[in-house]
Amino acid sequence: AAEYALSLHANHSPWPDSLAIINSSTSQKLSYSDFIERIESLTLYLQNVTQLRKNDTAFILCPNSIKVPILYFSLLSLGVVISPANPISTESEISHQISLSNPVIAFAISKTCHKLPKLKHGTILIDSPEFDSIITMSPAATTARQDLEKVTVSQSDLAAIMYSSGTTGKVKGVMLTHRNLMAVIAGYYPFKQERKSPTVMLYTVPYFHVFGFFYSFKSVALSETVVVMERFDLKKMLRAVEKFRVTHLAVAPPVVVAMAKSDLTDGYDLRSLETVGCGGAPLGKDVMKVFTDRFPTVDLWQGYGLTESTGVLSRSNSPEESRRWGSVGRLTACCEAKIVDADTGDALPPGKQGELWVRGSTIMKGYVGDPEANSTTMDPDGWLRTGDLCYIDGEGFLFVVDRLKELIKYKGYQVAPAELEQLLQSHPEIADAAVIPYPDEEAGQVPMAFVVKQPQSRINERGVMDFVAKQVAPYKKVRRVEFVSAIPKSPAGKILRKELRKMVLVPFPSSKM
Ligand code: ATP
Repeated sequence: AAEYALSLHANHSPWPDSLAIINSSTSQKLSYSDFIERIESLTLYLQNVTQLRKNDTAFILCPNSIKVPILYFSLLSLGVVISPANPISTESEISHQISLSNPVIAFAISKTCHKLPKLKHGTILIDSPEFDSIITMSPAATTARQDLEKVTVSQSDLAAIMYSSGTTGKVKGVMLTHRNLMAVIAGYYPFKQERKSPTVMLYTVPYFHVFGFFYSFKSVALSETVVVMERFDLKKMLRAVEKFRVTHLAVAPPVVVAMAKSDLTDGYDLRSLETVGCGGAPLGKDVMKVFTDRFPTVDLWQGYGLTESTGVLSRSNSPEESRRWGSVGRLTACCEAKIVDADTGDALPPGKQGELWVRGSTIMKGYVGDPEANSTTMDPDGWLRTGDLCYIDGEGFLFVVDRLKELIKYKGYQVAPAELEQLLQSHPEIADAAVIPYPDEEAGQVPMAFVVKQPQSRINERGVMDFVAKQVAPYKKVRRVEFVSAIPKSPAGKILRKELRKMVLVPFPSSKM
């Protein structure tokens, strides 16, 4: 997959010597030739000095930096399986991840390395001066470069073991092959626009999440210039857009919500911005409209996918498609899809809600060491059960209602928390919101909202409940409200509902409303 992305760049780029990558905080810049030289130097070192071999696994515990894609390209070109984890993972989370992927080496930074166990080839610190000298071409290395032994990988070989976020259960190791990664990159290639200059793409999405992971290869295949941010910070992101004339943003929903609602955006020149691509978690149509009113020249589109589908299953392909409010675009050509009745497995017609099932070239090989999860998620005919309640309209646009596991069961009804969250987020005095099921003797469960107020907002519990009640059927009414300072979220922007459940300390009496 690394070779494939590099050859797309080398053979088809109108700008082979353009900038490959920029560090947004230090402004360090690497051209494509600098970038490729660093990949080759590191590959040589890892092959000859570290003695990494095809099918070894490398565990990566690093925040975003310009060195992470260099590392990804080097490892993949050696046939080494990449296994990146969130650098804020705890020692016990890391030990579970390591028990799944069985790595021989780790790459970390000085702040994260203490959490790692001892591995066969140890840990390499990518923020050390030694690493800088490895990746910076030396004359000795230039001669030795001829010694680089070419490694052949087949499409069915593993490229990565990614960890699912664990938002709905235990963390699983998702096995992705080179074919999966090549298919996802190939899906973007037809969209290579006739541009006068390269796309300047700023990611706030982390490289350890499947979204950032596949983007690192897709960006090289399309000869994009990538501006990397270590972590999201609205002011720093806006400053970087202005400074580096960013044309495209790749973000999770909280960034779109922040841009739609914050006055900070007024202080920056954002005229270079053409597109904002958002994915990883639901984004409400009302917030999309507020965003589009504020930034009428920016095309805001949604992409939808899972770690298990190598990141992208659907996306909007044009500004007209982006205006299909609430839709996550059309399914990519890499997969076939059907909506099924989750209980019977029967396929449903367009417009009907059911579980989305997908199969095709971007679908994972399976979960590592978890036969039970494999048999519940993968159908014997190769269909992946996404666990998402969706519908596809008559023109092929996909709409995600919510995750089946997260639906609130109120009496005999099902309530989608995402619908209530999107409604709450559309309130001008509400900065952010999340909804969880709250146990109730009479109803089974009732919707409970956690609300973050906008500064100076005077909204109270009754105001929140009345706002929702006026716009939804009675069974969907919010029946308890808690004001909080922030909603806990994953790096992909997903609400961490288990953290919210821990915050509810007082038992909720039976609902009489
Ligand atoms: P775990 O399976 O361990 O709970 P996870 O599923 O949270 O982890 P991901 O693979 O990051 O890990 O999440 C995929 C899920 O994210 C999808 O199944 C869907 O529910 C949600 N999702 C992704 N993009 C969108 C989107 N644009 N709109 C709505 N939901 C989305």
